[in-house]
Amino acid sequence: MPTLEPRPGRVFLVGAGPGDPDLITLKGRRALLSADLILFDHLAGAELPATAEHIYVGKKRADHSMPQSAIIALMIARARAGQTVVRLKGGDPFLFGRGGEEAEALAAAGVRFEVIPGVTAPLGIAAYTGVPLTHRDLTSTVTFVTGHEPARIDWSAVAAAGTIVVYMGLTTLADVAQRLMAAGRDASTPAMAVRWATRPDQQVIAAPLGELAARVAEAGMKPPATIVIGAVVSLREQLHWLTRERPLAGQRVVITRAADQADSLTALLREAGAEPVLLPMISIGEPDDTTALDEALLRLSRYDWLIFTSVNGVKWFTRRVTALGVDIRRWPARVAAIGPETARYASFNGLVRLDLVPERFDAEGLAEAFENFEMQGRRVLLARGAEGRDVVPETLRARGAQVDVVEVYRNRIPEDAPAQAAQVFAAHKPHWIAFTSSSTVKNLLTVIDRAQLDGVRLASIGPATSETMRKHGLTVDAEADPHTAEGLAAAMVSVGSRRKAD
Ligand code: SAH
Repeated sequence: MPTLEPRPGRVFLVGAGPGDPDLITLKGRRALLSADLILFDHLAGAELPATAEHIYVGKKRADHSMPQSAIIALMIARARAGQTVVRLKGGDPFLFGRGGEEAEALAAAGVRFEVIPGVTAPLGIAAYTGVPLTHRDLTSTVTFVTGHEPARIDWSAVAAAGTIVVYMGLTTLADVAQRLMAAGRDASTPAMAVRWATRPDQQVIAAPLGELAARVAEAGMKPPATIVIGAVVSLREQLHWLTRERPLAGQRVVITRAADQADSLTALLREAGAEPVLLPMISIGEPDDTTALDEALLRLSRYDWLIFTSVNGVKWFTRRVTALGVDIRRWPARVAAIGPETARYASFNGLVRLDLVPERFDAEGLAEAFENFEMQGRRVLLARGAEGRDVVPETLRARGAQVDVVEVYRNRIPEDAPAQAAQVFAAHKPHWIAFTSSSTVKNLLTVIDRAQLDGVRLASIGPATSETMRKHGLTVDAEADPHTAEGLAAAMVSVGSRRKAD
């Protein structure tokens, strides 16, 4: 009977693709899932499975976390110890990725290895900027070259190609452009520099070859970026699908909503190309004192109406109902919710039928919707947060109803809000801040300096939030209508995608 050999280790040299984590191959993904150890570098954007050990091995220009010889020695040692090692590299391992050297070392050491290709940066750039690298009418040659050490390249040979792609060419761009023009390339040749291609923060600067270096310097663009030069760059004007399909591409949008409520807005913003940044300005919890709520709950069947004005109202109300073991048959005759999100949430929670959802999703809309009902002498329980507007109770009282307003939850500023806000604003100034309630406005202003909002566009979920913003001297750049996550995302998209002039 054959005996089982100890499992021999091996190394996969895997291309992670240019940045968008979905641009890894299926085979590369499978290798990651089988790995014991993943050695990844700065440009490898793939998601790393938690099943493996991860080691960051560099390298940005300035920070060489681990010398190449040490990376190679580590791969060999772990493979010899029987591990499956993935060496994950940005783009493709065999294009300017030193994958060749690593494979040579593995071969020389007698370690089994496989190479899994990846989408190299220029192909990501081509797709995500709308610049085909070849085109029947424009060029049938393309050259990939490194700008790392321009003096070592024969630029007259490079200049002859229709399309020229320069990796690592940002810091030497002025020199490279000079050399290409000296070799006969026209200063008016269309060209562009693309940074962090395929990621949400992809940045493109396009200008004729003779001007590109100056434009890049003006904009302060930093590596990693790749330069594309040639007539094909002009096709971008027609083919830039990304900016059309993802109108908020590259925009950082701060979401101030409580973290557990931000999912739908986050997903919608991602779909529009934005980079959502969570900065919860409220955390929601029980009221300091639940006596009033508990009393109302124990007499629930005496009410004719129960009104919810927010998802949180439903959530904390039902929690308390469960905690007290209130009999579900004691529900009031009728239940109303302020808008579709609250209603959806209420039905998810198995709260009996909803009898009333207004056409306009705000307090005025709700008050108006009650016009079709006799309210004289009716008992109403309004379940809401500590601070709320008085439109609904006042309107209903004026019509003869007896309204009990009870606090079912309380908004508080999360303890780590100041630190988190400092971090978000220190990184890069956001393009947008989305306010989803008056409390998010007030709370943010207690943790940041108003001057930090200069140049940032501000979006509001509806008129009440907008009013609070104006009261605090803020400008409302976009207001949702309807007053939902969908409405909020749509309002930001329609206002446009450019950063407000500073
Ligand atoms: N093996 C990689 C290249 C590594 S060299 C590949 O096949 O793509 C590093 C250079 O790649 C950077 O200086 C930059 O020129 C380019 N690069 C990598 N990722 C990039 C990205 N997302 N956007 C623009 N350029 C990128």
